[in-house]
Amino acid sequence: MTDSTSIALVTGGNSGIGKCVAELLARDGCNVAVLDHERTEQSGCVLDRIQSIGQEACHLKADVRKDHEVRAAVATLLDRWGQIDILVNCAGIVRDQVIWKMNDDQWRDVIDVDLTGVFQCCRAVAPTMRTAKSGSIVNISSINGMRGKFGQTNYSAAKAGVIGLTKALARELARCNVTVNAVAPGLIETPILDGMSEEALSAAVAEILLGRPGQVEDVGELVSFLCSDRARFITGEVIRVDGGQYI
Ligand code: NAD
Repeated sequence: MTDSTSIALVTGGNSGIGKCVAELLARDGCNVAVLDHERTEQSGCVLDRIQSIGQEACHLKADVRKDHEVRAAVATLLDRWGQIDILVNCAGIVRDQVIWKMNDDQWRDVIDVDLTGVFQCCRAVAPTMRTAKSGSIVNISSINGMRGKFGQTNYSAAKAGVIGLTKALARELARCNVTVNAVAPGLIETPILDGMSEEALSAAVAEILLGRPGQVEDVGELVSFLCSDRARFITGEVIRVDGGQYI
């Protein structure tokens, strides 16, 4: 699907895994729209990088929690480039706390961004992919949605929800030749880890068989593959990228 005219929409594309995915999809020949809730210097760097690869790039400012903003962003993109072939849902946050201290905002913020945001973005692009009878959707879950993590009832619930959503949507869109898969990273070095204590970080690294945290490219290359025609017979799948952290 990633020929020179493919159009990719990457949420959370300002930073970390999303930024890397945006650049790798540009490398693969896509024009890339980077959706994020803020437009920062980082956004400018991502767009410059995509353009330096020789592809077209645009930034869409939208908060994935707000359905009207997501719909407006998708409409803008369709007006501009006429189609959306690839959606990669990377936008995500953490608000870690043990459940007996977790307040409503910590619970809701994570569910709203990490689960409802994925739902709203998938819902907004589904009609155009159904009409085109082609497309790839990749949702970034987490190994903590598969195993649960201390201090992350909110995040583990949201990421487990993303896996369920992915499998149900794979069933709904298969007849239209649209694949829907989830990638479940383990510990990956990105700004999302900034709030983690040294102790928690070392404990997480100690779980990883390969003995190091992952890099964004470790996840990005799998996403690139799943969005390509080489993965055309893979759907409803959840693939871990975790250096053996889960087992
Ligand atoms: P990151 O903080 O570098 O990137 C997250 C991006 O999401 C940022 O650009 C941020 O601005 C954007 N974002 C946050 N809230 C948003 C909103 N409401 N609307 C639109 N954009 C919003 O983190 P990352 O590590 O690159 O995370 C990417 C995805 O990977 C997330 O879903 C995260 O849960 C998942 N993940 C990360 C790890 C890890 O160890 N880094 C592990 C497993 C899963």
